[in-house]
Amino acid sequence: TPAPSSAGFPPIVRKKLMGYVGFANLPNQVHRKSVRKGFQFTAMVVGESGLGKSTLINTLFNTTLYPPKEVLPPSAERPKTVAIESISADIEENGVRLRLTVVDTPGFGDFVNNEDRHVLTHYVAVMSRFDAYLEQENRVNRQKIADNRVHACLYFIQPTGHSLKPIDIEFMRRLHTKVNLIPIIAKADTLTDEEIASFKQRVLNDIAYHKIQIFQAPTYENEDEETQAEQEEIASKIPFAVVGSNQLVQTPDGRQVRGRAYPWGVVEVDNEDHCDFVKLRQMLIRTYMEELREYTNSHLYEAYRTEKLLGMGVAQDSSVFKEINPALKMQEERTLHEAKLAKMEAEMNLVFQQKVAEKESKLKQSEEELYARHREMKEALERQRLELEEKKKRIESGRPLTPENKTKTRNRFLRA
Ligand code: GDP
Repeated sequence: TPAPSSAGFPPIVRKKLMGYVGFANLPNQVHRKSVRKGFQFTAMVVGESGLGKSTLINTLFNTTLYPPKEVLPPSAERPKTVAIESISADIEENGVRLRLTVVDTPGFGDFVNNEDRHVLTHYVAVMSRFDAYLEQENRVNRQKIADNRVHACLYFIQPTGHSLKPIDIEFMRRLHTKVNLIPIIAKADTLTDEEIASFKQRVLNDIAYHKIQIFQAPTYENEDEETQAEQEEIASKIPFAVVGSNQLVQTPDGRQVRGRAYPWGVVEVDNEDHCDFVKLRQMLIRTYMEELREYTNSHLYEAYRTEKLLGMGVAQDSSVFKEINPALKMQEERTLHEAKLAKMEAEMNLVFQQKVAEKESKLKQSEEELYARHREMKEALERQRLELEEKKKRIESGRPLTPENKTKTRNRFLRA
């Protein structure tokens, strides 16, 4: 059932997983708070159509996030528009909820004559998601902020065996400070092991030469040996040479595996001897998903925000500046603390004044009530006195009072 989504984004469907994915491993990752709340993760996939992007996403999350593509008749042309589309799904593993969004440019034919637009469209997509986040942060009510920022950009490199193309370099240079770039060699089963090794080296050389900053899988010194080894191995596989497939095929020794069957054998997706799929999944989902989110928030978004606010002429209190100048940071903290104290004092004063005012008005009310009662009683007594006076006059003017009459009259008065 489609759930309502935040403004401007398509509805979200619930998807069932068909097997192990690995994000339930998040409790072992750096931050645990996202586990309780459930969390959002947005991946952008970039690359020419036909490079296996949708297949890989389905393979990664073991679900049919992408519906099967309609088979177009040979005469029909694929749409050539460069439109950004996003698909969202809620998936759950071992009680850990993940709202996964994949941002894609479906129907993007080839880059010829379209390169600038291709880069620009993606750039705009990333920045508009930052804008949307900033806008939410600036709202008065910041309780529910939807994080639709792009947390990872899977960049699909065509398995040419040569080196990066100018469009690849242009794209990465434009976006490397805005997103976590994860370069991927698509359809690695079309290259031999040696070709892959040398292609990877050339890609890395290009990346270094153009000073492109790709996501560096951090390694943690204080982790146990096994984890450290895994982290180092993940880092050593970049750019990941991957094979995608959601098809189960039978291996010669009779196992059912996800893979691609060829006349000469089966390429297994989940076999680390065959491709880097498992390592990519480990990095993206098991080990560094939180890291990718964190880096997006604390570095990429923060840099965007600083630039944006400085551009608007707002004196910025960015954490970047505070890190540079500890004195400034302390001063800032003290000011904040003092402001907090002053606010508390003002609040307490207000409460005190309210209490005093309440008490005063209550006292005044009971005083008035007392006066009123006093007045009433006085008036009642006065009335009685007048009545008595009247009666007395009447009696005295009537007949002379004999001692007997006197007693009778007194008794009548007493009864009255
Ligand atoms: P997209 O346009 O980038 O989303 O590409 P698709 O995922 O639709 O894949 C295009 C074609 O490539 C399909 O026929 C897939 O079966 C095939 N394909 C996907 N992944 C691989 C792969 O790793 N190796 C090979 N050889 N073919 C693949």
